[in-house]
Amino acid sequence: MNPVTLLDLSAQRRRLGERIERAVQRVFDHGQFILGPEVDELEGQLAGWCAGRHVVSCASGTDGLLLALLSRGVGPGDAVFVPGFTFAATAEVVALLGASPVFVDVERPTFNLDPASLEETIDDAAERGMTPRGVVAVDLFGQPADYEAISKVCESTGIWVLADAAQSFGARVDRRPVGTLAPMTVTSFFPTKPLGCYGDGGALITDDAADAELLRSLRNHGQSDRRYDHVRVGVNARMDTIQAAVLLQKLTIFGEEIERRQALAIRYNAALADVVTVPRVREGADSVWAQYTIEVDGRDQVAGRLAARGIATAVHYPLSLHRQTAYRDYPTAPGGLPVTDSLAGRVLSLPLHPYLTEAQQERVIAAVRDAVQ
Ligand SMILES: *Cc1c(COP(=O)(O)O)cnc(C)c1O
Repeated sequence: MNPVTLLDLSAQRRRLGERIERAVQRVFDHGQFILGPEVDELEGQLAGWCAGRHVVSCASGTDGLLLALLSRGVGPGDAVFVPGFTFAATAEVVALLGASPVFVDVERPTFNLDPASLEETIDDAAERGMTPRGVVAVDLFGQPADYEAISKVCESTGIWVLADAAQSFGARVDRRPVGTLAPMTVTSFFPTKPLGCYGDGGALITDDAADAELLRSLRNHGQSDRRYDHVRVGVNARMDTIQAAVLLQKLTIFGEEIERRQALAIRYNAALADVVTVPRVREGADSVWAQYTIEVDGRDQVAGRLAARGIATAVHYPLSLHRQTAYRDYPTAPGGLPVTDSLAGRVLSLPLHPYLTEAQQERVIAAVRDAVQ
């Protein structure tokens, strides 16, 4: 039997056919490889997905996070609160700027930042003489974090919140799209994200026109409107025109792909809830299911049994950030991160992508049920 892969980017490629090649060919023909017309067009289209907010494209999700922190003036002595259960980029940019990431626990069943742990950790950091500046909340596996609760904590402590929506572009909470749930949001178009390009790419979304201008300048070496007039220290973090051209084609089918992901996740939940801990979305929220991640006892043994039946799985993430070599000396929540630690040993992501067939999904379901018996 054919293996069932975690993702299948080739199926989407076949579906889009030659449209992407033609779009890229047009960029070759006009030759404006940096900040070409497709970049403007893409920013306009993405704004349409985010209730008309300002969209500034950039070179990757990580660069987007870096630009966001630069726009907030983050530097040495600052404490920026991040979940311990996330991809490294979330904390990396904080450390890179000489500030201190402070690791906060996450909550079940959403895998997202726990507002109570956040509040405790901010108080503790302030007591220890650090300067709390902001929070980077992560929309893990495609579900938006609880920005309402997080924003309340931030308001009472006078710090900002940034949304790391690298995995969640296209998701909603009470009909409000990702990009509008926090004052500033970063997303990624890494090829395996729900909306991925054919290389690196990312975008920032903000409700503030002045912030958008600042981000445009920062992504382009701190240049002002006048060429070669640099008014601040910036970076080179522009999106390639070719990637914008690819994304414009993929956006035409993105809505349908999200619906397909959601239908598959609902089927998994119905078929597996009695044997493993299935992922849940909060009331009123939805997820774009960047990953479909269960919790299960004997995770590695279950993964091995699935592999033996040709079913790929992955562990997102096997080692929480505050336990990794590069990050283990940074501060954490006062009581540690018990939920994060527990999840790292129990999570398992199953195949889910818009082109997974029902027959393939049935195979995965049967194999999981057998593996946990
Ligand atoms: C992928 C990812 C990033 C980084 O995005 P890149 O485009 O790969 O730089 C940041 N945060 C999270 C949570 C991610 O999943």
